[in-house]
Amino acid sequence: MLSCANTYGFEVTREVPVPELSGRLYRMIHRATGLDLAWLDRPDDNKTFAVAFTTLPEDDTGVFHILEHSVLCGSSRYPVKEPFVELMKSSLNTFLNALTFQDKTMYPVCSRNEADFMNLVSVYLDAVFCPAIYEKPEIFRQEGWHYELSVDGAAEYRGVVFNEMKGAFADPDELAVNALNRGLFPDTSYRFVSGGDPEHIPDLTPEAFISAHRRYYSPSNAFVFLDGSVPLEKVLSLLDGVYLKGRKDTGRIPPSPLQAPVDGGVVHVDYEPGSADQMTKHRFARGLAAGSFDQKERLTAVRILSSYLAANNHAPLTRAILDAGLAEDVQLQLMDDMIQPWLYLQVTGVSADNLEAVDRTIAQVLKDQADGLDRERLMAELTRLEFRMRERDYGSFPPGLANAFLALGSWQYGGEPEDNLEIGTMFDDLREKMKDGHFERLLHDVFADNPHRCTVLLHPVPSCGQARRDRESARLAGETSAWSEKERGEKQRQQEKLVAWQTSKDSPEQLATLPRLTWEDIRQMPEPLPLESAEISGIPLLLHRISTNGIVYVTLFFDAEDVPPEDISALSLAADLLSRLPTARHSASELSVLAKLVSGSLAFSLASFEREHEDRSAFRCKFTVSFSALEKDLDRALELVTEILTETDFGAMSEISELIPQRRQQLFERIVTAGHAVAVGRVLAPLSSADTIRERSSRFDYYRFLRTLENPETLRETASRLSSLLKNTAAGARLTVSVTGESDDSAAKAARFLRQALPAGAPCTAPASIVPEAGSTEGILIPADIGFAVLGGTFAGTGVSYSGAASLAEKIVSLGHLWNAVRVRGGAYGTGIAIRNTGPVFCYSYRDPNCAGSLQTFLSCGQFLRDYLKQEPDLLAYTIGAVGDASPLLSPSAKGAVSDSHYLRGLTQEDRCRIREELLNAAPGQLLQWADVIDDVLKGGSYCVVGGENQVGACAPSVTYTL
Ligand SMILES: [Zn+2]
Repeated sequence: MLSCANTYGFEVTREVPVPELSGRLYRMIHRATGLDLAWLDRPDDNKTFAVAFTTLPEDDTGVFHILEHSVLCGSSRYPVKEPFVELMKSSLNTFLNALTFQDKTMYPVCSRNEADFMNLVSVYLDAVFCPAIYEKPEIFRQEGWHYELSVDGAAEYRGVVFNEMKGAFADPDELAVNALNRGLFPDTSYRFVSGGDPEHIPDLTPEAFISAHRRYYSPSNAFVFLDGSVPLEKVLSLLDGVYLKGRKDTGRIPPSPLQAPVDGGVVHVDYEPGSADQMTKHRFARGLAAGSFDQKERLTAVRILSSYLAANNHAPLTRAILDAGLAEDVQLQLMDDMIQPWLYLQVTGVSADNLEAVDRTIAQVLKDQADGLDRERLMAELTRLEFRMRERDYGSFPPGLANAFLALGSWQYGGEPEDNLEIGTMFDDLREKMKDGHFERLLHDVFADNPHRCTVLLHPVPSCGQARRDRESARLAGETSAWSEKERGEKQRQQEKLVAWQTSKDSPEQLATLPRLTWEDIRQMPEPLPLESAEISGIPLLLHRISTNGIVYVTLFFDAEDVPPEDISALSLAADLLSRLPTARHSASELSVLAKLVSGSLAFSLASFEREHEDRSAFRCKFTVSFSALEKDLDRALELVTEILTETDFGAMSEISELIPQRRQQLFERIVTAGHAVAVGRVLAPLSSADTIRERSSRFDYYRFLRTLENPETLRETASRLSSLLKNTAAGARLTVSVTGESDDSAAKAARFLRQALPAGAPCTAPASIVPEAGSTEGILIPADIGFAVLGGTFAGTGVSYSGAASLAEKIVSLGHLWNAVRVRGGAYGTGIAIRNTGPVFCYSYRDPNCAGSLQTFLSCGQFLRDYLKQEPDLLAYTIGAVGDASPLLSPSAKGAVSDSHYLRGLTQEDRCRIREELLNAAPGQLLQWADVIDDVLKGGSYCVVGGENQVGACAPSVTYTL
């Protein structure tokens, strides 16, 4: 085994079984260069490759983040402008991205198709080892920063990373973490912002950028991680024969040393509040060093203690702070992915005069708890963490990549790659240690009396956004006024060259350098998702027989189509409150412990599903309960769920008054950081009943509904209706049970139990008429310099039928047009067009410095598609990418959930196959029809812009909301 390693210049230095992953790990070193490679050989046809470099920043210019973007803009064997984008167009990848951490930069790719996998590996290796950045200074200017000169002589900074980080810096959480890193690690590279501080990004020179690549991106500094059924010999041969050939061992950059304990004191940071009610919201943040990367058991125990102290409102630390009326919420988490993980405590919604009391209360709680922890609560946290870690459910994220993160978490710092891959007896050992005061001692050492700490106080200062903009303008004015005529001319020429490069097209010869799949690789139908329907005790069952390792995933769907439109938000509020309020039998605190002892997850929500696109008022609406449990705990989990559904006390006003501001704040932060999703919701809401329900149950309308509950009268009146709303909905006559797992018994057991335990109630008869309100042009003001723009409408009701060709049009317009026009030239971090099979068509931009310009650009999508089709269009490339997009990786539980969603939307396997056939056979003529649909819909569409005043103001919407 592995004799090929020798042939290609590698030496296998380690081979260990990894039974928990049914695998074997091989570690091998490339003798000539020192490149370090690990392969986790395990049965997974989704193959993972990742190359990572230790990259330790020496300033806040974001040089490694800019490099991460830049090496993907062309390389010596693949001399196209953006190989990364070409791969997005034309690969079947299940993951394709690059990531900048605080101490490493990582380039991972995954695919189920071997030829595709090898293509991705080749392009990525060429990108990191032979990038075009040495010959093309435009890459640095585009991805990092450059001066954008307007005709009147004014200048501004532009650049993809520059704008990306401006967006990131609008989040107070980002500011707190950066300040804590500075305070906790004053002597190591962790004190710097590896992503780049927008105020320092323009300090980066092209020379420093190039020399960082030369120094850090060498084979000797590389880690290569492989996972799954990879063609090892091909990978080793490519490495040794091409990228490592003739290279010498230049030495590995050692990991950052550990920071000696230091008290970082108290640091004050200003942030820009987003609305009037945020003005009183200061934040108390504290960082505490928690150990080093190789203390796996200790760090796991610290995680358990963090949940114990602050996982919910009944955890002792949160409880004490809420009881004293000092704050709105408390969060505590372990920040890992570094050599020296630290604890991040955040107390949010604190008034200025309470900041000191927060500090005192924390100290008191920790002192009290160190005298003796509540065993049952501690056991509940340990049980839940063990469930999650053994479950390894990553949704649509590749497990091989999760393994890469775990492996690098030890390997990069001098440990073995397998050190974190398995759990072993760790949880049993911790259960044993729980008896003798181990956790109390740890609480004392890490949380209470830790000499290595820092405190950050964040203060809302409305003028700080303007002050930041003023500093930027002053700096620009200083720089530009010092330019000689010659220098100004030079900058002008650089800008012209940049635009010329950005607008130039790759030649067919250049594009032909990229390896390509063939039609044969994609002539496949969508993988069927297991679904059997049955009925037991009169309850319809949806069964998804999938191997789940002894875990049962259950979803209860209660028909809620008849919920009156004015009650949608209230029913959604009931869902948000369930499991967090007391029941007739248990206090909310007892309930939170019980839930962790018997289930792996438990969630309540109101969900809507559109039906056919011809009828925009056709929808399904379900009150849903989702939970997971070990098969042996299913009875207890069912009992708990029924108790919560039937016995919750909605009169518990003190708990409700704590929970609502927390939920509101979560939504507020989502609007600021993911404004495109909010804007999409606003644009779609008037287009269909299903989207109207979504808007009212979880999006901006729901946020506004929660704000109305700040009025105590309205809150009391609303709370008084929740019980009867829920009682009408959570009834046996309305129930469908979905079960994902191996055993049929679980489904039968669940149905029989629920038939008995739930009130029969009345079935849902006629659906309510949910009439969407007319749309208008809207703006939502947030505290940021950038924004999010969305323009959209629907073809539903216009006689157009959806076809798989639309997904090809979507791919062509997104990557062939919007990527260039809005991201590359416009400087927005993200953009695209979406065409839904139920009718909506919309374009969006993300972290956009020019929302008004993007709204104009969106209108050119149809014409772009027409022009594109006039030349000889390369439909194969885009078709491959569209097939890849339509075939995401799904964990067992995600397969069950997606299958349920298809069922509720009335989407059958035959439909999926027909859509795939239409995609594979899409001809230019069909795409032309979609160009017309895009034009018609967008020209008659409406828009929503979420952004700073400058962004919203430039669009002049008819309605503007503040938060
Ligand atoms: Zn980035």
